[in-house]
Amino acid sequence: MTGDRTHMCTCAKMRWRIAADAPGTHLVCYCADCQTAARFLDHRIARLDSEGGSEIFQTLPAHFEFETGRENLAVLRLSPKGLLRWYAGCCGTPIANTLATPTLPFVGAILPPGTEGYGPVTALVNTVGTAGHIRETGVLGAHLSIMGRILRAWLLGKRGSPFFAPDGAPVVQPRILTPQERNAARPT
Ligand SMILES: [Zn+2]
Ligand SMILES: [Zn+2]
Repeated sequence: MTGDRTHMCTCAKMRWRIAADAPGTHLVCYCADCQTAARFLDHRIARLDSEGGSEIFQTLPAHFEFETGRENLAVLRLSPKGLLRWYAGCCGTPIANTLATPTLPFVGAILPPGTEGYGPVTALVNTVGTAGHIRETGVLGAHLSIMGRILRAWLLGKRGSPFFAPDGAPVVQPRILTPQERNAARPT
C-alpha cells in the first residue's frame, strides 16, 4: 500500500498520494505538539512510534494529491497561531501539516511508523522534552532542504496546494482547540 506512496485513512473513505518522484526529507518529529494533535484525534490510531515520534515526509504541497473522499478533509490547530494539522474527519487519521498560509509552500505528510518508499529517515528532531534520551540529528540538513525546495518552487512556479483555495484561505475552516482540549491530549 505504501510502496507506491498511496495512503488511506483507517476507515478507507479517504485516499491520498504523494508523487513517486517528489523529493523530500524523511524525518521523525518528537515534539509535544505533534503528539498532542495525534492523541487528540484518536489514541487508537495515533500514528506515533513507541517513543511518541511522528514519521513525516516534508515535501512540496504540489506533489500531494487527494484521490478519494476529499469531502471528509478536516483541519485543526492546537492554538490560534498553530500549524494547520490536516486529518480525515471521517475517522481521525492524521494526514499532514502545513503552515497557516500557502505563501511558503510546505507540507509535512504524516506516515505510519515504518512506512517504506520514502528512503531512510535522515533526521530526528525536537527530541528535547518527551524523548530526551534520543539524540537530535539532521536538523540543519532538514531545514536547508526545506528552504531549497521552497526556493525552487518559487522559481519554477510550482506553488499549487490541495490545502488552500486560490485566494489563500484553507479549503476547510480550521477547528481551534480550546486550552482544555489541548491540555487533556498533552503527552505526560
Ligand atoms: Zn476515514
Ligand atoms: Zn512535531
